[in-house]
Amino acid sequence: MKTGTIVEQSGIYKCTKCGNEITAVKGKKVSPCSKCNNTEFKLVRATR
Ligand SMILES: [Zn+2]
Repeated sequence: MKTGTIVEQSGIYKCTKCGNEITAVKGKKVSPCSKCNNTEFKLVRATR
């Protein structure tokens, strides 16, 4: 998923650059990585 888009699946996401893990909630906007400001994340584990 990318910063600026709406989260389609709640879960734990990992920054593709620094590996920082963030929690994303469905329906909310994706914010940039708090550590490196990267804008791309990979889904690690989906939650409900
Ligand atoms: Zn990062």
